[in-house]
Amino acid sequence: EEKLALLEGLRRALDATLADDAVDDPDAVPAAYSPAGRFHLVYQPKVDLRTGRIFGVEALIRWRHPEHGTVPPMRFIGLAEESGLIVGLGEWVVRTACRQASVWRAAGLDALTVSVNVSARQFEEKRLVERIAGALRDTGLPPSSLELEVTESLLMRDLNQAVERMRELKEMGVSLSIDDFGTGYSSLSALKSFPISTLKIDKSFVRDIAVSADDQAIALAVISLGHRLQLRVIAEGVETVEQRDFLRANDCDEMQGYLFSPPLPAERITEMLRAQAQQ
Ligand code: C2E
Ligand code: CA
Ligand code: CA
Ligand code: CA
Repeated sequence: EEKLALLEGLRRALDATLADDAVDDPDAVPAAYSPAGRFHLVYQPKVDLRTGRIFGVEALIRWRHPEHGTVPPMRFIGLAEESGLIVGLGEWVVRTACRQASVWRAAGLDALTVSVNVSARQFEEKRLVERIAGALRDTGLPPSSLELEVTESLLMRDLNQAVERMRELKEMGVSLSIDDFGTGYSSLSALKSFPISTLKIDKSFVRDIAVSADDQAIALAVISLGHRLQLRVIAEGVETVEQRDFLRANDCDEMQGYLFSPPLPAERITEMLRAQAQQ
């Protein structure tokens, strides 16, 4: 019952969000009060560990609810997935992220890659490639500026289909990264057949990386595996200088985490990019 109410809330929030997007003027007040609230995206910088510069951002969804405040994705992505609502919601995420990335490009700021999380149901949906092509076309974002983050467990559900899907996306020019790497069960031989460009070390391995020999061993193994497969390796959840220094000393390419910046509204990212452009 609680689940039904949550699902109904999600549906209405998506409708309200899409209705706002249909209004041309970005400064217009939201079309109508929505008792279920609305979705928005926040963006977390991804930083090159050698240069310290922002080269991309990950888009993360938030649900702002008039009564419940900001609802984190962990509370609703599962249900959106289960109910199929993730397909429409995910398409909104892709479009919104692409539109924002093309605004940053048009402002002459450093070319950024925007990364979007894609869930299993969304990835397997027949029209995924079409939907993504449509979002790129409508926003004018070059495909090379879009990256999709997928998890190993998603890819292992139907290996052949996943590889086929990934090839189509790669052909289009979109890049792919494996999220939460090490927490799922992808076989190493499968990894070889994935047309991906990046491995992301999950934050559960990063947390104790400065002190735990086991976590160090895992991170080092992922970094060297990634590099041998000619992939870039990024660590998420980097919160301390010690974690960053360990990763940098051990050749990890990129990082993301509260140490550099939490996920922020687009305007705050614009400010960071402006400051970076002056350096
Ligand atoms: P994820 O893709 O693994 O994203 C990383 C999570 O770690 C994000 O939580 C981010 O805010 C958080 N984080 C970033 N830096 C740090 C740090 O230094 N320390 C710690 N402890 N956490 C950090 P968030 O935004 O709550 O998202 C949770 C999960 O929800 C994501 O995990 C992703 O699986 C899912 N998600 C978020 N947005 C979307 C979306 O648009 N579509 C789909 N399908 N899933 C999404
Ligand atoms: Ca992610
Ligand atoms: Ca993760
Ligand atoms: Ca994830």
